[in-house]
Amino acid sequence: MEFRNFAIIAHVDHGKTTLVDAMFKQSGLFRSNQQMESCAMDYNALERERGITILAKCTSFIWNHIKLNIVDTPGHADFGGEVERILSMVDGVLLLVDASEGPMPQTKFVLTKALALNLNPIVVINKVDKSDARISEVIDEVFDLFVALGANETQLDFPILYASGRNGWAVRHMDDEHQDLTPLLQTIVQHVPHPEIDENAPFQMLVTMLDYDQYLGRVLTGKILRGNAKINDPVHAINPISGAVERARLTKLLSFEGLKRIPVESASCGDIVAIAGLEVATVADTISSVEVTTPLKSLPIDPPTLSMLFSINDSPLGGQDGKKLTSRMIWERLEKEAEGNISISIKIPHLP
Ligand code: GDP
Repeated sequence: MEFRNFAIIAHVDHGKTTLVDAMFKQSGLFRSNQQMESCAMDYNALERERGITILAKCTSFIWNHIKLNIVDTPGHADFGGEVERILSMVDGVLLLVDASEGPMPQTKFVLTKALALNLNPIVVINKVDKSDARISEVIDEVFDLFVALGANETQLDFPILYASGRNGWAVRHMDDEHQDLTPLLQTIVQHVPHPEIDENAPFQMLVTMLDYDQYLGRVLTGKILRGNAKINDPVHAINPISGAVERARLTKLLSFEGLKRIPVESASCGDIVAIAGLEVATVADTISSVEVTTPLKSLPIDPPTLSMLFSINDSPLGGQDGKKLTSRMIWERLEKEAEGNISISIKIPHLP
């Protein structure tokens, strides 16, 4: 199977979720009698609450026999090298810009990193149906932003699509007939290169994301850079700094399908997959066949920059309101968060 791995860079509310939902629908991922979970990408409860997308996730669909893996990027500055790590999995980016608001400063950070990694963006001017759309000005603003961020000639020659994600169409020229998202999907397939693959080498995957699933436990996501993965194969995880190795059998190999992760028997080089069942392996580790002894090149995880001490509240008003009042409950909540969040580490302090 062919793959295209790309990321979407968008300011909050510029219509990323709606557009991804429309792509899913048009690829036939959701059958007409199936209730579609709306808001494809920001399903995390915390994100919904805050209205921002802070976790990077992978979603996927098949169009014209090609598997498109979409990686979500944080819509703002970085958490510990996360943006670079995520962008290292993709071969292209879609910059989605609201036709009336134009590019927003918050997307600059991620866009700068994408340009520096030599990714060639596709620009989607979205919500062109809005009455206050100012399309040509917004294109000029995007161009100026690319120049200011040091884009090269190829990057400045970006393809532009005009879209109304909510109405499910995109066009290459404003006066083209509004049909569906085919022009956008075609542009992605043409403009985003196929991942570089080395199918004959032993299996090697670089872990890029970590999350915690209540049924599967620790879930490690990354791109297969070399070889193919097969269920039940013996594997090990190599830490790039300590060299420490965790051995396991590949019992839970998951592929992305829409918003879900589904168990598969095998996965090919170039695909983005998730592996569960390892207990200590983490982001930046290499999961590979046991014959591989050198880890893949990876970015180190930045240490946390802020520390916080949790202690007993001895104020006279302590314990008078709130629900989670005991330190055990706070400890459990923190431990759970740290299990799926590499930027948190918990220590018991040695107090005098
Ligand atoms: P996200 O934060 O980028 O994921 O944005 P959403 O997809 O949640 O969309 C934000 C808002 O813009 C919602 O109220 C959508 O209904 C609206 N919206 C999304 N796409 C379009 C569009 O093509 N045209 C118009 N007019 N509104 C849209």
